[in-house]
Amino acid sequence: MAGLGARSVLVTGTNRGIGLELVRQLLSSPDPPQHLFACSRQPDGENGQELRKLVSSHPNVTILKLDVTNPTTIKEAATYVEGHLKGSGLNVLINNAATFTDLSLEASGPEDMCNEYKTNVVGPLVVSQAFLPLLKKAAKDRSQKGLSCSRAAIINISSSMGSVELVSCSYMKPAVPYRCSKAALNMLTMCQSLSYKEDGILCSAVHPGWVKTDMGTQAADLTVNESVRGILHVLSKLDDGHSGLLVNWKGEKLPW
Ligand code: NDP
Repeated sequence: MAGLGARSVLVTGTNRGIGLELVRQLLSSPDPPQHLFACSRQPDGENGQELRKLVSSHPNVTILKLDVTNPTTIKEAATYVEGHLKGSGLNVLINNAATFTDLSLEASGPEDMCNEYKTNVVGPLVVSQAFLPLLKKAAKDRSQKGLSCSRAAIINISSSMGSVELVSCSYMKPAVPYRCSKAALNMLTMCQSLSYKEDGILCSAVHPGWVKTDMGTQAADLTVNESVRGILHVLSKLDDGHSGLLVNWKGEKLPW
């Protein structure tokens, strides 16, 4: 399995699904991060049991409370990470947490739209803003010139359902709030990549495939293990040519 070559990684939404598997596979990679921050909105609750069990034998993992819709928890997590890293930067931020609201055009109300945007777009924006100083620091501290996950990266876990060009392939499931939020996340990724290129931060959106999780359901194509193995391999290969792109778990470029 490919390693990222990153000293420090932070992932949001890690108590189940793809986020939990990212933590699991990063820990068992040939070069696990020295500092892995596994974020969850309720790390102490019943929902956090599997994560707590997974990390109990790994001193390089810290579980942090972070609700992507709650700026206070985001700020507190960023302050903690800064202190924990003792002057070094954060190499990789993975904005994974999301909600999936599958409603038709007729049924999508203002609140459904706003809630989905709050978690899936505003969340990654505010989390990225909070960790930006640490990402910039990581990029500066590495002597390498090009963009990579071993230097500094923001990875937004997006979806092909947010691709305007691909929408007709999957419109049997309208999921209007989700689609619109992921399309906006794709735009956010492009804006981040243009803004942070000069700072040495790679910014890409990754579609994990259709994955057997609570969100993807058991009818999905991929096991969470297969998807995350692919994602981590892809992340290890990302460079300047991938910043500002939407790629899938196999590394193929998808249209916006
Ligand atoms: P799951 O529904 O299985 O897990 C979602 C995770 O996000 C949970 O850990 C959940 O925490 C967390 N989360 C939700 N809201 C918040 C919040 N406000 N703050 C912090 N954490 C939150 O989803 P997947 O693992 O399947 O999805 C992971 C990512 O992959 C998402 O970005 C999704 O859009 C994307 N994706 C998934 C696909 C699939 O087929 N599964 C397909 C395409 C994209 P809690 O347990 O507390 O609710």
